[in-house]
Amino acid sequence: MAVTARESSSPLDAQQWREDFPILARVLPNGAKLIYFDNAATTQRPRQVIEAIVDTYQRHYANVLRGVHTLAEETDELYASAREKVRTLINAPSAEQVIFTYGATSAINLVARSWGESMLRRGDEILLTEMEHHSNLVPWQQLAARCGAVIRWIPITDDGLLELDALERLLSQRTKLVAVTAVSNVLGTINPLEHIIRRAHAAGAVVLVDGAQAVPHMPIDVQALDCDFLAFSGHKMLGPTGIGVLYGKRELLESMPPFLGGGGMIRLVEMDRFTAADLPHRFEAGTPPIVEAIALAAAVDYLNQVGLAAIHAYELMLTRQAHQCLQSVPTLRIFGPKPEQKGGIVSFALANLHAHDVAQLLDRAGIAVRAGHHCTMPLHKRLGVPATTRASFYFYNTPEEVEQLAPALERAMHTLRRK
Ligand code: PMP
Repeated sequence: MAVTARESSSPLDAQQWREDFPILARVLPNGAKLIYFDNAATTQRPRQVIEAIVDTYQRHYANVLRGVHTLAEETDELYASAREKVRTLINAPSAEQVIFTYGATSAINLVARSWGESMLRRGDEILLTEMEHHSNLVPWQQLAARCGAVIRWIPITDDGLLELDALERLLSQRTKLVAVTAVSNVLGTINPLEHIIRRAHAAGAVVLVDGAQAVPHMPIDVQALDCDFLAFSGHKMLGPTGIGVLYGKRELLESMPPFLGGGGMIRLVEMDRFTAADLPHRFEAGTPPIVEAIALAAAVDYLNQVGLAAIHAYELMLTRQAHQCLQSVPTLRIFGPKPEQKGGIVSFALANLHAHDVAQLLDRAGIAVRAGHHCTMPLHKRLGVPATTRASFYFYNTPEEVEQLAPALERAMHTLRRK
């Protein structure tokens, strides 16, 4: 099973892992101890990742794939090994199918520009879901505007699940692409990817999976899933900003024209033409995020040590606890399905209180959450609220921290209603 809860054999000890994260010991200027519940926006980094960045700059740094000197060879080796570690993480058939990008957004844009522009024609259809992040939505709108393709939407139920009957109705010979998130960054919903991919393939469509909220939190196996593309970001999985990954099936990647042109992506350049390099370099024009890739590999090592199945099971436990505690908060409405159907994301709204005010008051208690539309405006329109407050967990959060959410919210409500 590629994207479902697997019970871990040993319970996860958050306290032990927390010691590796210097920032989690922070006390805020007002004296409150930090409770970091903004992990869906970006995670924190353990010492091991920070040290990988420092160590690379201090001892091994040079540009990659160009030099013959010792430092260049060392950096080349580290960069290649980073690609191999990411390959193993998602079980890609080969490292050449792992393209380093600057984030999930740039990975999706790469597919929209390269695959999309060469493959889509007027009247072709792109199938998206109502819960997509703008990063898996705007690039398709831009593509549709350029080539005359039509976007269709898989709606969600009131519980925040995809309406799978609609998938059947919407899929047709015109459907060229289904672009779907593995886990919603607002509802937390874990989508039934295997089913969607099977049905899309039966209709002859290609499937891009937005793995930004999934790869950091649960085992993902691209071969078991049989997805055509997978995009994700390093900074949401303990790695640095400025690095992301695009996985693609070999035959698709090989058929795609390069997206950005420049150094590193060519085999031969003449005055009037160029020949593109082989995979993966044909999609990595210019100096790539070298140190970021090496530090991402340190993050992958770290995640493997903690265990992604254990992380998923632990986050389910925290999410169950959060749902239960928040039930006692008057007028609070949680969006999305029950904990068993989602990742560690709890978005909510309180009657007549603005999400930003709530987040600001939680910050006074040291609790860092996100408020707003979380780059999902169409989803918020469907939910009927302009904004939500979102608490999102990672394996270094503790039940003691989750316990503080409901009382802090009740205090916040009290303060806001007095105003
Ligand atoms: N997709 C989803 C589901 C996300 O949550 C995010 C980040 N919020 C992205 C895509 C975009 O990731 P990035 O900004 O790192 O490119």
